[in-house]
Amino acid sequence: MVSVDYELRKKAMDANIKDALKYCYQCGRCTDVCPVSKVAPDRYNPRGNIMLSFLGLNVFNGQKNNFAIWGCTVCDTCDEICPQKIELTEIFTVLKNMSIARGEGPDYYTTQASTIYDAGKAIPMQPAIEKRREQLGLPKVEEPSVEEVQKILNETKLNVILKK
Ligand code: SF4
Ligand code: SF4
Repeated sequence: MVSVDYELRKKAMDANIKDALKYCYQCGRCTDVCPVSKVAPDRYNPRGNIMLSFLGLNVFNGQKNNFAIWGCTVCDTCDEICPQKIELTEIFTVLKNMSIARGEGPDYYTTQASTIYDAGKAIPMQPAIEKRREQLGLPKVEEPSVEEVQKILNETKLNVILKK
């Protein structure tokens, strides 16, 4: 028996301004123009993701590094071509957030998030870069307040997701 994920369905519907999602008629133009679908047609399909989200069916395949969701590069081409003005990328953001909450986010995302949590920024300063900046006469880069960054991230429950 097919089980319907009502939370997924509601979140996908809520992500769309003006309730446009229900007007998707599966024309497939989003998939036609998607650069990821062009190179990986068997692994990524925005039209299919929209259909499964709308119906509340299992769009997650339960695997880490789930390309069927994370393959989207957010180039926005599908948003621009959709004749029904559906904001596909908003829905795909919901799917990615749900994937992270399920512990199925790709390692490269969680590793990057962990670095930001620990260092207060995405790319911590390296001694070699500092030296090069000094040679070029560039000013020192101010370090962020890690405590303040963590306080903000804790509000988003990132610490729970990352098990910090
Ligand atoms: S282009 Fe728009 S209407 Fe057509 S399948 Fe994609 S989301 Fe649905
Ligand atoms: S935003 Fe994502 S789904 Fe849409 S065309 Fe670009 S890569 Fe494909």
